[in-house]
Amino acid sequence: MRTTSGCETKPQNTNKLCKNLFQEERTVENTSETVLIIGAGPAGMMAAIELSRFGILVRLIERTTKPADTSRAVTIQPRTLELFQQRGLAEKLVPKGNKVVAASVYGAGKRVFRLDFEGVDSEYNYELLVSQATTEQVMRDALEQQGVLIERESTLISFAQPERNGDITAVLQHGDGTLEKVACRYMIDCEGIASHAPRLGSNLQAKHSRKITLWVTFTLTAKFLKPT
Ligand SMILES: Cc1cc2nc3c(=O)[nH]c(=O)nc-3n(C[C@H](O)[C@H](O)[C@H](O)COP(=O)(O)OP(=O)(O)OC[C@H]3O[C@@H](n4cnc5c(N)ncnc54)[C@H](O)[C@@H]3O)c2cc1C
Repeated sequence: MRTTSGCETKPQNTNKLCKNLFQEERTVENTSETVLIIGAGPAGMMAAIELSRFGILVRLIERTTKPADTSRAVTIQPRTLELFQQRGLAEKLVPKGNKVVAASVYGAGKRVFRLDFEGVDSEYNYELLVSQATTEQVMRDALEQQGVLIERESTLISFAQPERNGDITAVLQHGDGTLEKVACRYMIDCEGIASHAPRLGSNLQAKHSRKITLWVTFTLTAKFLKPT
């Protein structure tokens, strides 16, 4: 089954006929039970992997034309690797990275402290250094295997949820300029740090949602070693 944006989706039962600004008609396979995920970064892809694993239909929308090829995040923590393992991703990712078993912090020419990851109670008792571009590729492969393809050049431009617990109506703009109206019960905003969703869906934010910003502070206790 193909949407007009050229991406394959799983067969779904409801056809929605959408009219865009140019009065062209656009038929998209969709059901209000489909979960609309905005943004195919690590967060959006993991949400799509997880939901589709449980047989939940998803549409994964991404505004860019192609995947990012820059590294950005480079360190994967043991617990993340454990979660990846449960989804069959760790075995693909670990051989592509470098294992860091310990790290030392230096100041004023001296070693201040050393972190030893080998004591971590995990099969993955190390930090995995791997480019985020590589991690994303592994996630994209998993999505493809689960029959979810990323709908590229599609951007969320507005949404509203008039009734609490009612459907969300989202408007997507595709690369060719066409607009698509999508009704869905659930939408997951994974637009990253520059998320527009709170602004785009201002009525939703005001009426039904809360934005939580969490700052975590921690105290690190370290044994100071004599300079070596
Ligand atoms: C230069 C740089 C260096 C970094 N270095 C590190 C590092 O060393 N260590 C570290 O831990 N983290 C680092 N980060 C942060 C890390 O990359 C992010 O934490 C991570 O990418 C967040 O994942 P995400 O899926 O939440 O968001 P993102 O990766 O930002 O993905 C969001 C996706 O949503 C898409 N999108 C946004 N809005 C829309 C819309 N309206 N419609 C459709 N699609 C949309 C975007 O195109 C993007 O693909 C770095 C980031 C940058 C930019």
